[in-house]
Amino acid sequence: MKTVGQPAFRAGQIFDWIYKKRVRDWSDMSNLPKALREWLEETFDLHPTAVVLTKSADDVTDKLLLRLRDASLIETVIIRAPQHGVGVNRSRKTICLSTQVGCAYGCKFCASGLAGWKRDLSAGEIVAQLLEVCAREDQRTPRAKAELASFDNIVVMGMGEPLANYDNLIRALTIANDSQGLGFGARRVTISTSGLIPQILKLADEKLGFRLAISLHGTTNEVREKIMPINRRYPLEQLIPAIRTFSRRHGRMLTLEFILIEDVNDTLDQAERLADIARDLHAHVNLIPYNPVDGLTWHRPSIRRQDRFMAILESRSVSATIRREKGSDIAAACGQLRLKEEAKGSWLDC
Ligand code: SAH
Ligand code: SF4
Repeated sequence: MKTVGQPAFRAGQIFDWIYKKRVRDWSDMSNLPKALREWLEETFDLHPTAVVLTKSADDVTDKLLLRLRDASLIETVIIRAPQHGVGVNRSRKTICLSTQVGCAYGCKFCASGLAGWKRDLSAGEIVAQLLEVCAREDQRTPRAKAELASFDNIVVMGMGEPLANYDNLIRALTIANDSQGLGFGARRVTISTSGLIPQILKLADEKLGFRLAISLHGTTNEVREKIMPINRRYPLEQLIPAIRTFSRRHGRMLTLEFILIEDVNDTLDQAERLADIARDLHAHVNLIPYNPVDGLTWHRPSIRRQDRFMAILESRSVSATIRREKGSDIAAACGQLRLKEEAKGSWLDC
């Protein structure tokens, strides 16, 4: 505002309109001079995203397919996990954000990487996903209840590798965190990464203490490499010390994500090793049964095999959960909706 000859307090007013009052148009910002509103309109894009499709599963998961100005598609997911014994209608609400269009890392189980990387999202496009969720929730519930603060968590686990778009990610999360922005506490934000070591170490030094989840998916280089090509660049013997450094600096439990793929990484030996790694890092393990992706040949293990894997972790006193909710299917296989819709081209009609 100062650089265009406006008093600095105008910036606070604009933040208030966007993040607190959540107006959808520059012209509604009634305490700004008309000329400034017109200049803002010409210069900035208040809505870089448009919802083109929503998909719900069992009232647990809402998936929003968003179109960007260049017609790229991304996905943002709202996950409502019912909480037992916490009161009527109280469900844990989590927002899952995308950070890139596609992904360059090509993990063998993941729909987001199938068509490669197209581009990074801007900080504005990342924040816009949160504002789209707010707009939707504002319609569903009385305004006071629909504040972003009523969401329990943000997870950066949608399309793309967040740490490959580091600066825009941190800028967006800083706005989400700021009291003039959405006021969302850093401890309620989890960034998931396939394991980019330099950025993990950089994140450990950030002022805001975001939580970290590591997509491990294999406990030996041989197995992990089959699933995640990134392991050749950052093998386990380098990745694990980097995670340890992050964990020590933060003093908080991090999460190891482990997708279960039949006969690939669901063996007893992998479970034993995973228990060792989790205990060493004081990490929580999140087991995710593989969701079949069109065009990929792997299978989800039977419930019996999943339970056997889980039992080994439990017998070693590792804190672990297994993702079983029905609705999470559409969240876990993130990137699929976009691929399907791009193939059909149906979003063009919306
Ligand atoms: N690039 C980051 C964040 C996005 S992927 C990362 O790799 O961590 C986040 C998670 O989505 C993966 O770790 C995996 O747990 C989950 N996921 C992706 N495809 C999946 C599939 N087909 N089945 C189950 N989980 C999947
Ligand atoms: Fe990219 Fe993460 Fe998918 Fe791997 S799992 S391809 S890093 S989005």
